[in-house]
Amino acid sequence: MSHISQENNKKLFIIQALGYTFDSLESQLAQIENHFHRILSSLKISTPSGKSTSIQLNIDRVNPEKLDAKAERKSKELATYEITIKAGFSRCLWVASRALAFDEINLLPWVEECEINDKRLRHLGKREILADYAYFIGSYLIILHEISHIVLGHLDYLNDEIGDRYLSELKDEKKQYYPEELIIRKAFEAEADRQAGQWLIGFFEHSLGSNGLGGYLLFPSRLHAYEFYVYSIAMVFRMVQDLTQREGVIHPKPNERLYILIASLSEYFKQNLPCEHDKTYHHALQSCLEAGKKLLVIDSFDPLTVMLNANHLVFVDDVIKAINIRRYQHRFEVITSK
Ligand SMILES: [Zn+2]
Repeated sequence: MSHISQENNKKLFIIQALGYTFDSLESQLAQIENHFHRILSSLKISTPSGKSTSIQLNIDRVNPEKLDAKAERKSKELATYEITIKAGFSRCLWVASRALAFDEINLLPWVEECEINDKRLRHLGKREILADYAYFIGSYLIILHEISHIVLGHLDYLNDEIGDRYLSELKDEKKQYYPEELIIRKAFEAEADRQAGQWLIGFFEHSLGSNGLGGYLLFPSRLHAYEFYVYSIAMVFRMVQDLTQREGVIHPKPNERLYILIASLSEYFKQNLPCEHDKTYHHALQSCLEAGKKLLVIDSFDPLTVMLNANHLVFVDDVIKAINIRRYQHRFEVITSK
């Protein structure tokens, strides 16, 4: 059972989902972990000085109630890095994704037009399959965001120039920072979202298979598939809004982050599928306004507010240029197996 309830004295809403246990998540966590281990072992990532970078992904199940995701440089000499996702954070993503599973909420009214392609999954039903798919998209977004911090050189910059060993997605939001440092950290977060968004679309597009409409489940059209994608990421930022109550100082606000991801979608299509760019991007933008409204992501659905926020985000490129972060950027190539 799940429902959306309004707190009396706050404009924020909390998605509640009852009856889920950490155990049900375990097999999905293992799948995600295995997939990323395969991906990371098929990439050769090097520091600007040519050292081979090693990234360990660790989903921390020891304290399932803890909420965080972080990236840390373990050794400069060995160029080793670690990404830790607390299982509690992953569980929140999972609970948020359940919003797609329930008839009462009916976020995507066209769900019945989808077809289950894989007979083994028929017993689950279309909504449950979509909810699981959304959970994977959300989890990949978080992990890709952390990988982005590493390969874009954010962690090396913070280690070498500010003396901080790690970047946390939730824990340090209320720390006091000098204004100069704060603006750099905020630009890093926006840039990590931008990079992660482009990679995430790559993963999503790959998951849609050769027909471009889906593997286990076929979407009625590619626009429907991308509408689902937009709802999946909107649910992530709605969850972040609940967890942070919009009080964090390091990250852009959840509504801004949502639109960074839509801008990444546009960029991906421009580079890879230019013929589909206009209609997909316009539909995604429209879907984003609707998803923001239905999921109550604050400041995400009034077009004027959205435009003003988008303009505000140009500070990111100014900061990136001013500190010349590109000198820290890692290079990577795919190792092709023979
Ligand atoms: Zn981050």
